[in-house]
Amino acid sequence: MTASPQPYDELVFLPLGGSGEIGMNFNAYGYGPPEDRKWIVVDCGVLFGRETKEPGVDLIMPDIRFLAEQRENVLGIIATHAHEDHIGAIPHLWPMLKCPIYATHFTAFLIEGKLEEAGLSGRVRPHHVSLGAKFSLGPFDIEMISITHSIPEPNALAIRTPLGVICHTGDWKIDPEPLVGKVTDVNALKRLGEEGVLATVCDSTNALVSGESGSEAKVREALTALIGTLKGRVAVTAFASNVARLDTVAKAAKQNGRRVALVGRAMHKITDAARKAGYLRDFPALLSEEEAAGLPPSKVLYLATGSQGEPRAALARLADNNHPYVSLTKGDAVIFSSRVIPGNDLAIHELHNKLSLLGVEVLSADDHFVHVSGHPCRDELAEMYRWTRPQIAIPVHGEPRHMAEHARLARSLQVPQAIVPANGQLIRLAPGRAAVIDEVPSGRILLDGRILMEEGGGLARHRRALSFAGLIAITIVLDAKGRPATDPAIVIEGIPEPIHDAIRDALDEPLKRHNPKRDGDGHELKESLRRAARRAADAAWGKKPVTRVEIVHL
Ligand SMILES: [Zn+2]
Repeated sequence: MTASPQPYDELVFLPLGGSGEIGMNFNAYGYGPPEDRKWIVVDCGVLFGRETKEPGVDLIMPDIRFLAEQRENVLGIIATHAHEDHIGAIPHLWPMLKCPIYATHFTAFLIEGKLEEAGLSGRVRPHHVSLGAKFSLGPFDIEMISITHSIPEPNALAIRTPLGVICHTGDWKIDPEPLVGKVTDVNALKRLGEEGVLATVCDSTNALVSGESGSEAKVREALTALIGTLKGRVAVTAFASNVARLDTVAKAAKQNGRRVALVGRAMHKITDAARKAGYLRDFPALLSEEEAAGLPPSKVLYLATGSQGEPRAALARLADNNHPYVSLTKGDAVIFSSRVIPGNDLAIHELHNKLSLLGVEVLSADDHFVHVSGHPCRDELAEMYRWTRPQIAIPVHGEPRHMAEHARLARSLQVPQAIVPANGQLIRLAPGRAAVIDEVPSGRILLDGRILMEEGGGLARHRRALSFAGLIAITIVLDAKGRPATDPAIVIEGIPEPIHDAIRDALDEPLKRHNPKRDGDGHELKESLRRAARRAADAAWGKKPVTRVEIVHL
């Protein structure tokens, strides 16, 4: 049982990622007097960089310096499930916190894989916690409550403190037949409601969608029927982490007399983790890609990564016809058993078109029932509020519009207070008067190649400028008297050939005007060459390239 609160103790909620965006979830709860709070972290996820906005950036994660600076007070990271936007930043950010990690078995296996890849497995191993189990971290008593989502072993958290109980839902939906793993522990959630919940901190992804998200079991029926209508090779693409969906596809294939081959590294990684955690016991035997290639088209089904149009994933290679063993052709079909993540629309669209050009039929959720969302729609959200009956609703895991609509829904369900948080806001939780009491440093950290760096250093802007209008690099050698010793050396990259001469010719004038007596160090010359080159490109082409001038003194 939790101790009674001390006079200056406060319970606070601090989102550092995932509020105002879908991705890089990172939520912290603090307890204690303001100058000496103990913290727990719930989830530590990434967001994927977008080529158009952050060219060259692979991953984006929250800036957690506020907690890193007091890491002795951070008691642990608890992961709610194994999606990348919940655990993907652990190998990158754990070294700043160096605290214990807690997760259910399946999630823990995947975290272990990440830690191993990062060379950290000798330093930290996640604690495996069973669904339904309870453990304590300082003033926080934590219970892992089984819930359903689109990956095995997702859990909500009951976080009990001397100042109240929090229900942190994680990502969830209500699926009466999730096919893999347990159903939602409705009794545990109702018990929490009876005990009295101070705040329910809840997934907002589908707050704009009415009704219910639908069950995995219905997708199984529909996919089995759909595959039965197809004659040629079939490739199905789905999120590898959706183990129930992989199981569905494999069983639908078997029912239709097809053998399955996995295509893409993530498919193997997830099925391995699922087997370790005790799932997929009756998964049909798999073929290798090479073996599958020898079967008649009507006997084979490929389960492939790349549903989001990722350029290096299996499906993109099939669409480009450059996979060593698998090829698709006229009469074959690809089923997209997945949703379109906002921002990936164009890449997916292009993939559909490439497949169509090959003569491959494209079937997707646009016109077939081949996918259900893993997030709660409005009827399910209402159910969660009926079960947990919180004093305060805190929508997280959403873009601003999702969170605002979620807050409106909660108020309409008679939740006394709904508060829409922003990353970096420190929110004190107290019955009926939750309030933002402070703002802490927050923001984004970018993983660029192997380097982590703060956002906003101008790098993305610079790369976009280079990709938009190319580069001119000019080098001038000046002798001891400040006179040009040779013709300028010019390197031009990413600029149309017909413009090159105009750029070269434009340098004559500033060189002619260069006065070594007045400008011996070449300072003015440098600037006038830069301007002349850019002006010439602009006049001939309508674009101003990034231009660099280097003065070398003999
Ligand atoms: Zn998720």
